[in-house]
Order: sequence, then C-alpha cells, then structure tokens
Amino acid sequence: MFSSCYSSIRPSIGPLAIRPSCAFLRETVAGRAGGIFTATIMKIIPALNLTQTGYFNKKINRDGPIPPHRPALGPCWIWIGARNDFGYGIFAIFSRLFYAHRVAYTLSKGAISEDKPCILHHCDNTSCVNPSHLFCGTQFDNNIDRTIKGRGKTPLGEKHGKSKLTDVMVRDIRISNANGESRKSLATRMGCSKNAINYVLNWDTWRHVV
Ligand SMILES: [Zn+2]
Repeated sequence: MFSSCYSSIRPSIGPLAIRPSCAFLRETVAGRAGGIFTATIMKIIPALNLTQTGYFNKKINRDGPIPPHRPALGPCWIWIGARNDFGYGIFAIFSRLFYAHRVAYTLSKGAISEDKPCILHHCDNTSCVNPSHLFCGTQFDNNIDRTIKGRGKTPLGEKHGKSKLTDVMVRDIRISNANGESRKSLATRMGCSKNAINYVLNWDTWRHVV
C-alpha cells in the first residue's frame, strides 16, 4: 500500500534524481530551522502536488509590510516557516530543501529559466514570497543585487573602488531622466553601461542616494 502511494508521487521529483550532481543546482548555506545546520538548497523546483501547495500557502502571511521605497508593490508576503541566516524562507519537498521565494515564483509564473536562474526581490525583503515582488535575473544581476542590498561584504555606492558612478552622478541621472534625457544618452554621458543606468533608475542600485 505504502509503496504504491510512494511510487505514484515519486515521478514528480524525477529530475532531482538525475540532476543533483551538477554543482550549479545546489548550494550549501549556513541555515537555521529549529537549529543551526548546513543545508544543501536545491535550485530546480519540482512539481508540487495539491497537499504540498496547500502546506506551502499556510506558511505565508500575506499581510506583511509595504516596501517604503516601492509602495506601489503592495504588501510583502512574509514566509513564516524556517529561514536561513539571510532571512530567506526554506521549504522542504520530499526531504529536500528549497528557497521558498523560488518555489513561490515557480508556482506563480512557471519554471525558472536557465538564462536567468536567480530570483531577486524588488522589495529587498528576503523573507518575502509575494510573486509580484519577485523577478528573475542572471548571476551577474544577483551579484549586484547582493552587494547593493548589503548581503555581500562589498562597500556601497561610491565607496566601492570599482564604481564608475558617484552620489552626485546618480542624482543627476535620476533628475535628468525625469526631465526627458534618454537612458542611452545618460549611459554615454556618465561613461557607464545602459544596464547600470537601468539599475539606478529602477532603484535596484544606489537606493541609499535620494
Ligand atoms: Zn516583498
């Protein structure tokens, strides 16, 4: 009886049995879930059955804070289950651990693409699993996001030795764009990439400069 039940569920995590040997698919973090432990977090999210989806939804408080820098996003959905040391929610599926925000993104928007395998927060709230606060990005995007939001050890803004922009330039970019100067023109004038301009204007970087 048990084995037939088990085998009927097992195929939904089939890909995990094939792919975990790829280092890209897992990362080890120091985490806390009823105690300090080091866990391997799987990156590929398997299909959830109805019971698992229901259990996942019960771990969400949809009445979280509204991000002060992006109030239009509406309230964060706070993960009230286990979290790691950075505040990211952890959710277990068949004894394997996954980041809750990645599960939320997959449930809402489908599989995470290999081109943009990182799921980032518009709201900066690492424990938030509101799909409308999440967006996918490349590892490069993730590194910038991590640095800017203080999860890396790199200094912010112009204190960063490799930064091409300064606080004054960032203010100039935002004001000039509001007055009609194009992002392309700004990138040329400031001597930086259009991506860097996009990050500044989307308030994904240099958020401390107002
Ligand atoms: Zn949020």
